[in-house]
Amino acid sequence: MTYETHVSSGHPRAESIRIREQLTKHVETRVVALAGIIAHGRGEAFDYILGEKTILPAMRAISAAAAALLLAERPVVSVNGNTAALCARELVDLASVANAKLEVNLFHRLPGRESAIESLLIEAGAEEVLGVGDAASARLDEVHSDRRRVDPRGILIADTVFVPLEDGDRTEALRRMGKTVIAVDLNPLSRTAQLASITIVDNIVRAMPLLFSEVKKSRGLNAEELRTKVTTFSNKKALSDSMRLMEERLHALSEKGVYIQLHGRE
Ligand code: ATP
Repeated sequence: MTYETHVSSGHPRAESIRIREQLTKHVETRVVALAGIIAHGRGEAFDYILGEKTILPAMRAISAAAAALLLAERPVVSVNGNTAALCARELVDLASVANAKLEVNLFHRLPGRESAIESLLIEAGAEEVLGVGDAASARLDEVHSDRRRVDPRGILIADTVFVPLEDGDRTEALRRMGKTVIAVDLNPLSRTAQLASITIVDNIVRAMPLLFSEVKKSRGLNAEELRTKVTTFSNKKALSDSMRLMEERLHALSEKGVYIQLHGRE
């Protein structure tokens, strides 16, 4: 992922600022809703606690998620504004390697938004994008936002849905429909993280390339080996382990209080 930026590469928070600039740029193109900026800030707060790195429980979740995607008969990669703005190419690559459909599914279906997201995905190499305009003609009754509108060729009939940066209502509805739900969410306390079948507690920008590589690598495994990866994964344990790592890191930092040194002064 390379983003245009006004920040120098030497800035200690250069990557984080670049990501923010990418999101704000896409508020102008309508891809990102204002609420998406708030959601990103909430995610960043948890990323600070994680130390902005991929933790082992996330790697385990990525391995189970890759196996679940490969075992699925009708996998779908669900795309919202933030994910399209931050990793359109990675979403397209993941859908391609996992033989999954790409479907736009938004909390806020504002005029022009779906087609702006569709264009980003097509620019990134997508051949087909479901869920745009009238194509989202089916309804999920249990969902109380625009997210209830789904494509009858995609999420409605999917057995496994990858839902990065999701809201809890839809995750719950998809689980109630018997689907396997794979989430990416930096907040292990969110309803999405709690209710998904497999939760990857990591930043989407780090998790996507790792998930892509894992799916590619796991294609060499047989169905039995893939099933073992899924059945031996416990989301309860993955979330416990993620929370414990956050707690331990906060505890270690709390011993210091000030952990960033002011250079150039005695
Ligand atoms: P829920 O309804 O699941 O309890 P919520 O109301 O916070 O949670 P949203 O507003 O849709 O749901 O927020 C999306 C989630 O995405 C948040 O939990 C946030 O922590 C997470 N998030 C935001 N940006 C990122 C990112 N870059 N990588 C991973 N997770 C992120």
